[in-house]
Amino acid sequence: MPRDYYDVLGVARDADEAQVKKAFRRLARELHPDVNAHDPDAEAKFKEAAEAYEVLSDPDRRQAYDTYGHEGLRSGGYAPNFGDFGSISDLFSAFFGAAFESAFGGAARGGPVQGGDIAVAVQITLAEAAHGKQVEVSYDARTRCSTCHGNGARPGTPIETCPRCHGSGQLQAVTRTAFGQMVRTAVCDTCGGDGRIPRDPCETCGGDGMVVELRRVQVGVPAGIADGQRIHVSARGHAGERGGPNGDLYVVVRVADDERFLRDGSDLVTVIDVPAPLAALGTTLDVATLEGRVPVEIKAGTQPGETITLGGRGMPPLRRGRTGDLRVVVNVTIPRRLTSEQRDMLERFAGTLTEDNQRADEGMIAKLKRVLAG
Ligand SMILES: [Zn+2]
Ligand SMILES: [Zn+2]
Repeated sequence: MPRDYYDVLGVARDADEAQVKKAFRRLARELHPDVNAHDPDAEAKFKEAAEAYEVLSDPDRRQAYDTYGHEGLRSGGYAPNFGDFGSISDLFSAFFGAAFESAFGGAARGGPVQGGDIAVAVQITLAEAAHGKQVEVSYDARTRCSTCHGNGARPGTPIETCPRCHGSGQLQAVTRTAFGQMVRTAVCDTCGGDGRIPRDPCETCGGDGMVVELRRVQVGVPAGIADGQRIHVSARGHAGERGGPNGDLYVVVRVADDERFLRDGSDLVTVIDVPAPLAALGTTLDVATLEGRVPVEIKAGTQPGETITLGGRGMPPLRRGRTGDLRVVVNVTIPRRLTSEQRDMLERFAGTLTEDNQRADEGMIAKLKRVLAG
């Protein structure tokens, strides 16, 4: 014989809607499995309270019950249907859903979580940085298990409510203090916050639903990239948990030093050794560029530290802008270890030098400024 609904909720027969609601919430709070896991009757009591609330909170059902009692309700077509739920937790979430969780101060069970980001480094040469390159990066990433499709169960076996947290995904410790009830919440260590665990764990992933997989991804490194810049590849990081989106992949590009060039923004700087007599006479020498060696005219009378600019032989712009230049700095070398014949010739040559040979087109300080501005 079912108990009287007003007795179950502990309200008067003329209680209004708000009082009925309040009474049910108070009962539900007492019976919640996170608080009352030790009471084996909690589930039955909750079903009883839920049924009473379903009837008394609905004006038509309440009137039928007031007039005809339990029998009148049943013949009127109302049948409480709480029998199919696996546990009191499932019952709670079915009845209250997320609203219950927030109303009672607890967080909902672990929702979707985005997967973690992954960073990998790739090294390229300066020439590759100038021209752009397709590179393949490989890395380990958490990936949804293809055997169980991520649910962690051996195919064809059921997934059950976690016995430790009763499906809430959380463990709560309630302590009474002088300031009132304190509730600590932690993610359930048995189910990892899912609230459900497979009866037979998937053999591929051990029930985790995830496997670590070596992944290879083609990444286009754009021309003009600088050392240390990152390329963002969306959704190629670790797989998300509980249906969350994948993390992202960041490819950190290291541009290896090229002993022939220094990089100055989009310009490249290189040095060319010019023997002093050739600098005086003028000549044509090959100079290294990213596209191989090209001949460069050294004008007669070229001085140490003078710069020859090869337009457009630098680095391309990463996005917009102009391609940089190659600045060729002349390093006039003084011949060493002269033979006696060379010494004779140089001595005779030195004897012919005049002041006019030494006269610069600019003052020494102006020249220093130019060299330092490099
Ligand atoms: Zn699996
Ligand atoms: Zn659990």
